[in-house]
Amino acid sequence: NLYNMVQDLKGNIRVYCRIRPTINSEVKNVIDFIGKDGSLVVVDPKPLKDGKKVFQFNQVFGPTATQDEVFRDMQPLVRSVMDGYNVCIFAYGQTGSGKTHTMYGPPGGSAKELGISYLSLKDLFELSDQRKDITKYEIQVQMVEIYNEQVRDLLAEDSSTKKYPFAFKMLFDSLKYVCDNNLALPDATLRPVKSADDVINLMKLGEVNRAVSSTAMNSTSSRSHSVLSVHVHGEDASGSVIHSCLHLVDLAGSERVDKSEVTGDGLREAQHINKSLSCLVDVMTALAQKNSHIPYRNSKLTLLLQSSLGGNAKTLMFAHVGPEGDSFGETMSTLKFAQRVS
Ligand code: ADP
Ligand code: MG
Repeated sequence: NLYNMVQDLKGNIRVYCRIRPTINSEVKNVIDFIGKDGSLVVVDPKPLKDGKKVFQFNQVFGPTATQDEVFRDMQPLVRSVMDGYNVCIFAYGQTGSGKTHTMYGPPGGSAKELGISYLSLKDLFELSDQRKDITKYEIQVQMVEIYNEQVRDLLAEDSSTKKYPFAFKMLFDSLKYVCDNNLALPDATLRPVKSADDVINLMKLGEVNRAVSSTAMNSTSSRSHSVLSVHVHGEDASGSVIHSCLHLVDLAGSERVDKSEVTGDGLREAQHINKSLSCLVDVMTALAQKNSHIPYRNSKLTLLLQSSLGGNAKTLMFAHVGPEGDSFGETMSTLKFAQRVS
């Protein structure tokens, strides 16, 4: 369709910036201007520096944007998974910037506030229903967490969920790896879903398991990456088949951890978080520069997302920032990275 053609000409990485509402109104607001064309102007909160910085993204959503508004903008991208495209949507930003709000909505949130993971699946079911006379679709999901370079199943209902780490074998053959018929994580629970309600229940289970593991590890979920993978299989009357995959990723916080202040487990954790995130940054940067070598193999996260980053796949990055001046340094580093890949 036209949307996909236009997007293909622009390249396969899109960047949306989302600014959450102010939590602390005591500190200076650094958001100076939000343009309808995806431009954003931020202003350095230090009074001596009059530095206004201009950024350009595919879209910018301000503090009053609703989940529905955000979803409507990305709907064609999500739908393209039903035409056989692999799609990756990930939320990047420091802890507290709104990543989980965008991907899942507030914990125990009202139906109105459910995030884009839920809205995407709901939309895929609607599309599947509309096309049911032409194509038969099957949708299955996996949900895992990556913490300290170990992968944990968030949809397992048996006692293995209590064990941590629960390491999986991962398929490392990057050339043959295709989503669905050759799953990257063949041992992670794969659950068929038929309705948006099925998905809500699985997301709740995932949320509970994630909370359990973070308590057991004495940490918070802000330190792990969660990946919801939607595997789509479609077959039409002529017998032609599509396999595709939509990854929805709530990343660990991107804030720099000062290594001089952490030791032991904390240090190991900081290094691993930085490893997975910095590998994703490296992959995105290499893709944006159209390098011939893309370093997927350097982390579990990039290996898992490999089929939906680069090639014909479509990638959407949410760059999340808060408006408060006291996190200006982290805000700038998020915006600069986002600008670099868009
Ligand atoms: P992160 O996952 O990046 O750590 P959260 O999604 O948990 O951040 O957001 C931090 C807080 O701000 C939460 O209380 C969340 O509900 C709230 N919040 C974030 N983004 C929005 C938004 N767009 N609208 C309303 N509240 C938001
Ligand atoms: Mg979060």
